[in-house]
Amino acid sequence: MLKKSILLMNAIYVITTFSLIGQNKYGLVIHGGAGTITRKNMTEEKEKAYRKSLGEALNAGYTILENGGTSLDAVEAAVRIMEDSPLFNAGKGAVFTSAGTNELDASIMDGSTLQAGAVAGVKTIKNPITASRKVMEETWHVVLGGEGADNFAKEQGLEIVDNAYFHTDRRWKSLQKAKDKEKHGTVGCVALDKNGNLAAGTSTGGLTNKRWGRIGDSPIIGAGTYADNKTCGVSGTGQGEYFIRGNIAYDVSAMMEYKSISVSDAAKQVIEKLTARGGRGGVIAMDSNGNIAMPFNTEGMYRGHMMKNQDTVIRIYKD
Ligand code: ASP
Repeated sequence: MLKKSILLMNAIYVITTFSLIGQNKYGLVIHGGAGTITRKNMTEEKEKAYRKSLGEALNAGYTILENGGTSLDAVEAAVRIMEDSPLFNAGKGAVFTSAGTNELDASIMDGSTLQAGAVAGVKTIKNPITASRKVMEETWHVVLGGEGADNFAKEQGLEIVDNAYFHTDRRWKSLQKAKDKEKHGTVGCVALDKNGNLAAGTSTGGLTNKRWGRIGDSPIIGAGTYADNKTCGVSGTGQGEYFIRGNIAYDVSAMMEYKSISVSDAAKQVIEKLTARGGRGGVIAMDSNGNIAMPFNTEGMYRGHMMKNQDTVIRIYKD
């Protein structure tokens, strides 16, 4: 009898400790794109604006997690804020195609179910990340593209805008210059909720001066986005063609699974491989214990994280 109650008390202790540990490990990591981001190219005002927007995205996601919301909700909320900001190459502020249009890509993945959804080459959906989630939750497909995806979003009651909504003078000038160095600016998020579930999402306007109809890595599960509770959540930014050919996001997860290495070692090795192949970009990744990695091989990457019981970090440059 005594033995039994000691066992029971031990079990209660283990369960309580486990759930307390679980609760201590929630939070999110975001990126706002990697590229030629140097102090030389930055003004104080611009830097302040980026930091403010990144902070708002982190806060929105964190509040959801703190209140017991899911990692999917946190990812969607954080990405939406960056989509609505003209600073990032996603949603409002997306870059232009060679044809002078804005074509957006996005995806989201649930690490607890391995379900995923994506939209590619859409032109009228204000928040492509939300449309991706609708594809995941309301259809049996993973990716919807072009007009079919725009139409689906409309049917789902999402906010529809004219393609001109995405026009910003800054991106228009970039297209005119075409040689613009700041080609990246995709946004992404990985979140871990109180239940220990990971989710990841990515949203982009793609690359400046891309051919119309070009699809990047961001709506491709395994290339730009991946999440599995067993390993980690990943969102990438950089030259999509390299990310697709290298299965970058899945590769981070696979490295962890097959080689039993940490998320930071896995992410670092994947970016080294990307570099060796001549590709540029970076990833954010988080494992189910809340360990974070943010490696990149460009001059800078807008990035930050907000985790329970940790200082909030917002960084832009390499150093
Ligand atoms: N990866 C995106 C694409 O190739 C662009 C970026 O991250 O800036 O579409």
